[in-house]
Amino acid sequence: MLKLFLSFEMINFVFEIFMFLMSELILYNSLTGQKEKFEPIYEGKVGMYVCGPTLYSEPHMGNMRTFINFDLIYRYLLFSGFKVKYVRNITDAGHITNSLGEAEDSIGKAARLEQLQSLEIVYKYNVKFQELQRIYNLLPPSIEPTATGHIQEQIEIIEKIIENGFAYAVNGSVYFDVRRYCEKFEYGILSGRKIDELAEETRVLNAQEEKRFFADFALWKKANPDDMQIWRSPWGDGNPGWHIECTAMSTKYLGSQFDIHGGGMDLKFPHHEDEIAQSCGSFGCNPARYWLHANMLNVNGQKMSKSFGNYFLPKEIVDGTTNIFSKPFPPHVIRFCMMQAHYRSTLDLSEESLSAAEKGLNRLCDAVDLMNKLKPTVSSSFDVETLIQSFYDAMNDDFNAPILIAQLFEAAKKIFLISNGTETITKGDLDKLKIAVNGFLNDVLGISIQMESNNSKLAPVMDLVLELRQQARINKDWTTSDQIRDGLAAAGIEVKDGKDGTTWG
Ligand code: AMP
Ligand code: ZN
Repeated sequence: MLKLFLSFEMINFVFEIFMFLMSELILYNSLTGQKEKFEPIYEGKVGMYVCGPTLYSEPHMGNMRTFINFDLIYRYLLFSGFKVKYVRNITDAGHITNSLGEAEDSIGKAARLEQLQSLEIVYKYNVKFQELQRIYNLLPPSIEPTATGHIQEQIEIIEKIIENGFAYAVNGSVYFDVRRYCEKFEYGILSGRKIDELAEETRVLNAQEEKRFFADFALWKKANPDDMQIWRSPWGDGNPGWHIECTAMSTKYLGSQFDIHGGGMDLKFPHHEDEIAQSCGSFGCNPARYWLHANMLNVNGQKMSKSFGNYFLPKEIVDGTTNIFSKPFPPHVIRFCMMQAHYRSTLDLSEESLSAAEKGLNRLCDAVDLMNKLKPTVSSSFDVETLIQSFYDAMNDDFNAPILIAQLFEAAKKIFLISNGTETITKGDLDKLKIAVNGFLNDVLGISIQMESNNSKLAPVMDLVLELRQQARINKDWTTSDQIRDGLAAAGIEVKDGKDGTTWG
């Protein structure tokens, strides 16, 4: 008997190890161009840095797609049991390079245009950004540090890079010395860009004559007379270069090497390439073991961008104030639609894709409602564990949300079949299914099913019922109007008549 017990335990143990190996997290590392097993530096913990927004205007839907994608990744890491420190910065200073490769202070430009101070601009748009995060159900990062709050840290790293011989000061500015760097490290390791190819692309820039080499980039820029913000430094008054802020803040909060660095695909070059150069130039190592890049939200095949003018705002789709779509779409429908594209694929948000997502989400809501009312039986007619494992497998394969959603629809199909008696499920299996479906929908995908089923489905029905009640009241048919009110009360819906009309809840 004891022997039998032990061997059963052994089989179970081997099975669990097998399941664990089967369900290890694999992610696509842009640095190696391969899918790799995720192995955190410290067991059970993840340090993740994601480049945040430059708040010179309200973030557009494209920006939000990247933040929603990293919210999904953050949520799944938490759901998998990791203790995650998620740092996402706010760029509120620094000379940004525009799409033509020219230095431009976008915050200063906006401040002049709106006749406000730079930090007023950042604060104004940060309030909007925080509101959008609430609307789109993004979990707040662990820390949201700002570039202006870390000027000293940026200066210290620049000093270290100079000390190590990979940067030089000239005329109040400091440049990263790419040629010296190439003697020891490889420049272009992430983006695959070759220095000779860069030479052909490079335009004649303002500060070209100050640099020793065309590919050198600014770590510190001497102040211009029209700069809205300047800081003291060992090289004179000025402001930090764009890339150095991320090196300073990621190092401060996550150490000189951490697990995951993320951002939009468009940041691979030069921003992330230069972050790698700065970290190697100061600490001798690539800052992150895994580099994750989220793909772009496109409009008719072209990247959504402020400078192309082809953008719409996240609030506009929800309010129905953009003429691109014929009607407003609730934020969780938009989020669900976005999750139906893998984070490394491009996505074009269209009326058709949003409407299809709305229909699909309604079907899932119906299935969840039904699941809570199912009657279990003595046996299950299908393998519930395998179905649940498929949710994990999808997300463990480089956060494949579209496959997860396809598997949730499979679960919905089973629920409908159980409800009409074609399939059966035991109480234990039903409990597991409920936990898994609700967990993946709410906690991983960030779709609040409760909100969806109450608001969008009940509202038109309630409009009709309340209109009938109003008609009865006009006709002084008090019996019918009371009957409707009492019937709704019995269903847990309270009707209140006020001077501004009738409300329910
Ligand atoms: P920015 O405010 O321009 O620095 O961008 C903030 C984040 O949004 C970065 O990670 C960008 O890569 C990302 N981003 C910008 N445009 C798009 C787009 N059309 N689709 C997806 N992400 C974008
Ligand atoms: Zn960054």
